[in-house]
Amino acid sequence: MLLISCKNCHKVYEKENYDEFVCTRCNHKVRKRVKNSLQVSLALTICAILLYIPAMLYPMMEITKFGIKTESTILEGVVSFIEYKSYFIAFVIFTASVIIPLIKLVGLLLIFISLKIDIKIRNKNKNRIFKFIEMIGKWSMIDIYVVALLASVVQLGEIFNIKGGLAATSFALVVILTMVAAHRFDTRIIWDER
Ligand SMILES: [Zn+2]
Repeated sequence: MLLISCKNCHKVYEKENYDEFVCTRCNHKVRKRVKNSLQVSLALTICAILLYIPAMLYPMMEITKFGIKTESTILEGVVSFIEYKSYFIAFVIFTASVIIPLIKLVGLLLIFISLKIDIKIRNKNKNRIFKFIEMIGKWSMIDIYVVALLASVVQLGEIFNIKGGLAATSFALVVILTMVAAHRFDTRIIWDER
């Protein structure tokens, strides 16, 4: 006899085997593992990593220095804010748009790769990394809000302007793909015997 709980509503069933069935409470299709979970999440993470490159390399902002408009990437923008002695804004932009997305991507990639090939990370630690990513995932849209908010605040000084385009689109996609990759991943796979 097996005890199986619905991943959606957590109702517990007694079953003879792992055949899929429909939850009588919430109509969720109960499967032993989410279908192709690891493959899909890994693919989404790799896409997000590739999109992170144009997000960093293409101009995201327009900065007016001595009356001259220059386009700058996120990192050049951070440097400009440091030059203007706006250390707090520089720190927030750097953390929200460079560090947090990077931590999430590297963490997810590490977990997924370690499940594909046998890297020695203890399951508990993999689980911890994942929980951490999920935790900062709750704040992940902050990346975009911070940049949007700063754009509107700082624009008053006519120094700084967010421009749309390739970098901004790539950046938004990085955030969204990372969220979907983490959300769709079936953490039970971490504990499967390999
Ligand atoms: Zn259910």
